[in-house]
Amino acid sequence: MSGILVYALHDDEGNFNKNSLGAISEAAKLAGELGAEAAAVVVGEIPDDACARLGAYGAAKVYRAKAAPEGLAQPIVDVMAKVISEQGFSYALFGGGLLGFEIGAGLTARLNAGVTMEVTKVKVADGKLVAERPVLQDSAVVDVGYAGEPGIIIGRLNAFDATERDGGSAEVVDVDVELSDWSTKAKMVTRGEQRGEDVNIEDAEILVGGGRGLGEAGNFKLAEELAGALGGAVAATRAVVDAGWYPYAAQIGQTGKTVAPKLYLAAGISGAIQHKVGMQNSDNILAINKDPNAPIFEFCDLGVVGDLHKIIPKLTEAVKAKKGG
Ligand SMILES: Cc1cc2nc3c(=O)[nH]c(=O)nc-3n(C[C@H](O)[C@H](O)[C@H](O)COP(=O)(O)OP(=O)(O)OC[C@H]3O[C@@H](n4cnc5c(N)ncnc54)[C@H](O)[C@@H]3O)c2cc1C
Repeated sequence: MSGILVYALHDDEGNFNKNSLGAISEAAKLAGELGAEAAAVVVGEIPDDACARLGAYGAAKVYRAKAAPEGLAQPIVDVMAKVISEQGFSYALFGGGLLGFEIGAGLTARLNAGVTMEVTKVKVADGKLVAERPVLQDSAVVDVGYAGEPGIIIGRLNAFDATERDGGSAEVVDVDVELSDWSTKAKMVTRGEQRGEDVNIEDAEILVGGGRGLGEAGNFKLAEELAGALGGAVAATRAVVDAGWYPYAAQIGQTGKTVAPKLYLAAGISGAIQHKVGMQNSDNILAINKDPNAPIFEFCDLGVVGDLHKIIPKLTEAVKAKKGG
């Protein structure tokens, strides 16, 4: 069989991560083209019905390792290596994110496999998967095929859309895995959110990105007030992060996070290529910039030429008035 195995990350409440659901959807689509099945690996005490619901994203089976801890890479490498070897999966696909990269890399070493990272698209050619990966600061895209099996594919964050289908219930199969000695050396003490109190930038549907055009650190309150009114979160460019105006956790771009919200509102952001690669998959990009020649106007959906200090407070008031009314 040339099936595709996906790792499905969940939080402490058992909610599956958006990127994992995207990876399952993508795997199911590709498996359909290969004439094979997509399956997911889940670790921890996740109830049957929660596991089975991954079927709605296209997983035919869910392999559940109850004894393995969530959040640590090595135990999950043990689980996935066993499932791949015993069930004969040809590919493992990860949705991106730090844990996905760590597990994917570990699995590659364990299985002496081939790996492609930062993948933005996967296609089928001659009955095999071919990964597309941007290179040279995203100025070109290369096709990467696999000489042997299994092939490991690690997506760029948010590269794959989570697509829920009607119905669909996955078969849940419990697997007993003896964890390697080194996999039990690290213990999960607590899982937390490093990106701010209550907002996960990668999952936010609306982001207000602030750049050097804000003028100074204190002016980020303009972005925060607008994001608050819109029910979104605040992101930042590297320039302002380097200047100490905003935390690195909010940085979007080549050396920051990759996001794909429904709306990305760029305030005082020039639109450098290194920023663009982190937000170009947003559904709608709205830019406010006083320079009509700013590069961001070349790829935004709606551009407003003007002073953000005048526009943003009015926009915030308008959003509040609309919501209040
Ligand atoms: C290897 C490498 C990696 C990098 N990684 C990243 C990364 O991950 N993320 C990232 O963002 N950058 C990254 N950069 C930096 C990137 O090249 C840019 O320097 C940076 O994105 C610029 O940030 P900015 O748009 O805030 O600032 P600027 O380029 O200075 O742009 C500020 C904009 O604000 C506008 N403006 C000024 N005042 C106002 C006003 N009152 N109203 C409206 N508009 C106004 C200006 O017209 C200008 O267009 C990287 C660079 C390198 C070399």
